Amino acid sequence: MGFTYRIPLSQPSLGEKEWQAVQKVLKSGRLSFGPQVEAFEEHFAQLLGVDYAIAVSSGTAGLHLCMCALGLAPGDEALTSPFSFIASANCVEYVGAKPVFVDIEEESLGMNPHLISDQISRRTRAILPIHVFGQCCNMEAIQQVARSHSLEIIEDACESLLATHKGQLAGTLGKAGVFGFYPNKQITTGEGGMIVTSDKRWATLFKSLRNQGRASNMQWLTHERLGYNYRIHEITAALGLVQLERLALFNAQRAQVANWYTERLSNIEEIQLPRIAPQNTHSWFVYAIRVSKAKRDQIISYLAQKGIQTKAYFFPCIHLQPYYREKYGYKEGDFPIAERVSKESLILPFFAEMTQKQVEEVCETLRVAVQSI
Ligand SMILES: *Cc1c(COP(=O)(O)O)cnc(C)c1O
Repeated sequence: MGFTYRIPLSQPSLGEKEWQAVQKVLKSGRLSFGPQVEAFEEHFAQLLGVDYAIAVSSGTAGLHLCMCALGLAPGDEALTSPFSFIASANCVEYVGAKPVFVDIEEESLGMNPHLISDQISRRTRAILPIHVFGQCCNMEAIQQVARSHSLEIIEDACESLLATHKGQLAGTLGKAGVFGFYPNKQITTGEGGMIVTSDKRWATLFKSLRNQGRASNMQWLTHERLGYNYRIHEITAALGLVQLERLALFNAQRAQVANWYTERLSNIEEIQLPRIAPQNTHSWFVYAIRVSKAKRDQIISYLAQKGIQTKAYFFPCIHLQPYYREKYGYKEGDFPIAERVSKESLILPFFAEMTQKQVEEVCETLRVAVQSI
């Protein structure tokens, strides 16, 4: 607060093509449910190699609809991770079910498959792994546990577009996967999200649920179920289409920026670099390092004074957020790995168009900070 950052945490890549695409929609006069949404969904499904992609107003909306499709209700439980953005637990709360947390593993920072069985009860209905920072959870092991207990998997892939686990894409490893397009994600539409699935029944259900419970063959004022307004507009979809075209370039640029960071930070003893599990490829949502928890806040202020924005992330863990503490009585020590990672993690400025010179400046300032504080 109060600082102007010369090097911000994130910055979307928007250019002439996005500008033209938006103008084209405005000139067309068709602002909702038109050819842009259809094309965005079609291209997205193709990219992921799934049968259906359903665009929604946010990643959170997509997660909520997945909970509806599962039929989760009060009394049900879903297993999820405490080391995530709040939406991945809130979506379970929206339908009156209970999110039950499973601690994470240090390598992928995703839910630890070996700890899942301990948390399964008669009420458990689904597993919600979150692929954080651009890297998949240990999905093969999670899939095995899910199969042996007949649980569905819904993937929160909002941070991990194009990340892979054993060669398979994040979002395609469960019954449905959800992506988000907030301005800091790999591609952005301002606000927006996408659900992917290869289940035809679920795809039809999602289209109805996002559109006030209407079926596709129905009159506009006929509603066969309780639905929501989670539609996206044509402008959003037009932006998404252009961003999708540029995604391969963005991800190559992000990988380059990550490499620059890794090269320059690897010889600083006080800094722990991001780890990548051998079966994973990273899609670099953020570049997260770990530093001594006693020094982290001072490091953040030092960098801020130099015009460089960094952030404790994710902090605090979800179970330690006021709402969850109050409702379920969670406390410090409940999920020790997630809490330790949460106290040590720091994300650095990171975006596709970041220059080598900017990375150098961040690294040099960071070196001085960690060695002098
Ligand atoms: C960004 C994100 C979401 C979705 O966020 P929206 O702002 O609703 O699009 C969900 N889960 C995680 C882990 C995220 O990072």
